[in-house]
Amino acid sequence: LFNKDLGQHILKNPLVVTGIVDKAGIKPTDIVLEVGPGTGNLTVRMLERGKKVVACEADPRLAAELTKRVQGTPYQRKLEIIHGDVMKKDLPYFDVCVSNTPYQISSPLVFKLLNHRPFFRCAVLMFQREFALTLIARPGDNLYGRLSANVQLFSKVEHVMKVGKNNFRPPPKVESSVVRIEPYNPPPPVDFKEWDGMLRIIFSRKNKTLAANFKITSVLQMLEQNYKTFLATQGMTMDEDVDIKAKVIAVLESVDMASDRAAKLDIDDLLKLLYAFNQANIHFC
Ligand code: SAM
Repeated sequence: LFNKDLGQHILKNPLVVTGIVDKAGIKPTDIVLEVGPGTGNLTVRMLERGKKVVACEADPRLAAELTKRVQGTPYQRKLEIIHGDVMKKDLPYFDVCVSNTPYQISSPLVFKLLNHRPFFRCAVLMFQREFALTLIARPGDNLYGRLSANVQLFSKVEHVMKVGKNNFRPPPKVESSVVRIEPYNPPPPVDFKEWDGMLRIIFSRKNKTLAANFKITSVLQMLEQNYKTFLATQGMTMDEDVDIKAKVIAVLESVDMASDRAAKLDIDDLLKLLYAFNQANIHFC
């Protein structure tokens, strides 16, 4: 009946539905984006509260079912359905996003939302428990990693509630959790490609020292290439023999981080490190 590839697990518990919608703080003037409305259990609650709901649904059968559900009610004209894969669609303006997310697209969906402009106020999203805990993980937590740091660079993330598998039909294999994401507006003035480039290196083995991760030959080769390209584009003169390894270690030591491990670094530490590299003309993209 339900399509497993599309992660179709319908939320059955009305208390959980209400809890999620409450957390979104929908105002009567709000446009709400919903990803994967399914049969519309969340959708109808949001239609009661907001000005409009734009719901993107990949399964035409469920989209038709939802259309039928609101037909002939006052909510009909407040609902707009976008048919198709949300990852392939340009999103319209929205104030708030609510989604019992198909777990296959959790990570790309979060980044699609965080890149969306103009800014939305908040997103309340159901995820697989481990993914949710990764989003909120702090330095020193087991799950803390590149994903946590990337999401926390751009937003305030909080855990809203745990949702057991029996609240869904059919029940998924894993437990779920709802998180609330509030983007920082304005966003931090960081070049994301630089930032993520650095995080890829230091979080690839997050429990090793930064010095160890930067001594990898392929990493040093890449940084040397970037260094040369950067100097050339700036019209700066190059030292005869670039000792990129010495430069990298010097930067790590200048901020006293050579023996630190990414697993323990918070957003401010990471920003400080990136800034120090860039000051030394070392770039990650
Ligand atoms: N919101 C409903 C609920 O809470 O009962 C259904 C949630 S179910 C976990 C996920 C929904 O997302 C399904 O309706 C599925 O068809 C839809 N879906 C899956 N992948 C999608 C995608 N890439 N774009 C849009 N919708 C998608």
